[in-house]
Amino acid sequence: MAWCPFAERLELQPESDQQPAIRPTQFILHSIIAPWTPRRTYEYWQTTNLESHFGLGYDGALAQYIGTETRADANYLANRRADGTGAVSIETASNTSGSDPWTDAQVEGLIRLGVWLHKTHGIPLRICRTASDPGFGYHRLHADWAVSGTSCPGDARVAQFKNVIFPAIVARANGQTAPTTPTAPVEEDPMAGFTPDDVAHSVLYWLNQSMSATPEKATGHPLANVVPALNAKFKAYDAVLAALPAKCKLTPAEITAALADGTLKVTVTVAPKAG
Ligand SMILES: [Zn+2]
Repeated sequence: MAWCPFAERLELQPESDQQPAIRPTQFILHSIIAPWTPRRTYEYWQTTNLESHFGLGYDGALAQYIGTETRADANYLANRRADGTGAVSIETASNTSGSDPWTDAQVEGLIRLGVWLHKTHGIPLRICRTASDPGFGYHRLHADWAVSGTSCPGDARVAQFKNVIFPAIVARANGQTAPTTPTAPVEEDPMAGFTPDDVAHSVLYWLNQSMSATPEKATGHPLANVVPALNAKFKAYDAVLAALPAKCKLTPAEITAALADGTLKVTVTVAPKAG
C-alpha cells in the first residue's frame, strides 16, 4: 500500500487492514458538505461504513486514512471493480451546501496530490471518459460513482477542476510551471476535451436525475422507455470493454489507444424485452 509522503497519516482501522486491495486507476474529488479539518473527517469515518483515502482542510492540511492500494468506500461502483482496479478518493472541506469554491490552499493541495498519484500509480493525465476509464474526475462526473446521484463537489468546484486544477496537474506532471490561479478569466470551451461518449453519459445522467426526481411522472415521460435502454447499452458497453483485456490479450491502455485511433470498434445492441 502506498502512503503519500506529504499527507499526515491517520490510518483508519479496521478498514485499512480488512478491505481488499485495488490497483488505483482513477482520482475522484469530493466535497464533504462540512467545514471539517482532516482530523474531524477522520473522527467521522470512525462512525460510518464510508471513508475516503484522503481528507483536505480549508487551509490545505492533507491527511491520508487508507493506503492508495486498498479499497476506500466513497465512490460506489468505482471503489473496486471486478478487475481489481479502483478509484483513489479525496473529501474536501466545504460549506454545508457545497456551494463554495475550493480555497487557493485546497487548489494547490489537489494539484500536488494529483501529480503524486500520476507519478506513483501511473494514473493517466485525462478526464475519465467513462465510469471505468482511468484518469481524473469529480464525484458527479459519472452516474456509476454515486448510489443515487449527487451534485458533489458543487458547480463552483467543477469549474475549478476543469479550468484550473486539472490543467495544472497536466502542466506540472509534464514539468511545466503553471499558475494555480488564472490571472485573467479563462475563456475556454467548457466542453473542450469531451468525447461524444462523455456527452452521452452526461445526458443520460441528467435524464436519470430528472426522472428519478419525479418518479410518479416517469412512466408518462416521453423518455421513459429510452433511458433504461440507454442505461443498459452503456452498462453493456462498459462490460464489453472490461472483458476485452482478457479476451484480446491486450492491456487496457492498448485497448484505449485502439478505440481512439479507430482500429477497434465496439458495437452494443440492446434488444427491447418482449412483453
Ligand atoms: Zn462526493
